[in-house]
Amino acid sequence: MGVRPSLVGNWKMNGLKASLNEAAAVSAALQRPHGADVMICPPATLIAALRIALAGSTVGIGAQDCHAAASGAFTGDISAEMLADAGATAVILGHSERRAGHGERDRDVRAKAEAAHRAGLIAIVCVGETLGQREAELTEIVVCRQLAGSLPSGATPENTLVAYEPVWAIGSGLTPSLADVAAVHKAMVDALFARFGEAGRSMRLLYGGSVKPSNARDLMSVPHVNGALVGGASLKAADFLAILEAFDA
Ligand code: PEP
Repeated sequence: MGVRPSLVGNWKMNGLKASLNEAAAVSAALQRPHGADVMICPPATLIAALRIALAGSTVGIGAQDCHAAASGAFTGDISAEMLADAGATAVILGHSERRAGHGERDRDVRAKAEAAHRAGLIAIVCVGETLGQREAELTEIVVCRQLAGSLPSGATPENTLVAYEPVWAIGSGLTPSLADVAAVHKAMVDALFARFGEAGRSMRLLYGGSVKPSNARDLMSVPHVNGALVGGASLKAADFLAILEAFDA
């Protein structure tokens, strides 16, 4: 039997307490059979409230970043242990918005992934090429280099998800061709197998970048795509649930 896919919503810096209603609507809809594990990653301010609002729900709760240290003099930062304490079970790391906007390098992402694992969180590690890198035909080199540098040696299929997110596809409405997605995911599987053996082959690989109800079924049918990381279309329950339908048999 294949791995059960994951559908992860990244709310980014969006969401006030009223947004808990959207998460509750997602949760309510999961009473019927569905083809993917579902997780919502709200801003850190909502994690504890979401944990309460979704008590007993199968919707997972993730965060969007963490500091590498467990505690200390890091004003404004949040540790993986704090996220776990607030109710998160996973954390997105190395998102291109953090790589670009906060100067995060592969080694920083790797340290954060180690911190996530230390705290018992699943690390959702993001990689992806810029448009310039794609046009220079460097996509697979860049993605595999990011993968090698960002994943700690303790990564396993249980504690790590990888998200391939072309930077130019995020929030733009653009997506790579299905053949391009297939080529990158195949390259990632090969790289993970070379480094981690059979366990590497079992790691779930998500696609992210302008996934929406109209393209989700096609994107999710690509070999080695085991789910989706969704930004904008995860903010409204109706859109997010329409994407979930792409996972129905
Ligand atoms: C993201 O930010 O992880 C993302 C995939 O965004 P969007 O779906 O809006 O492109």
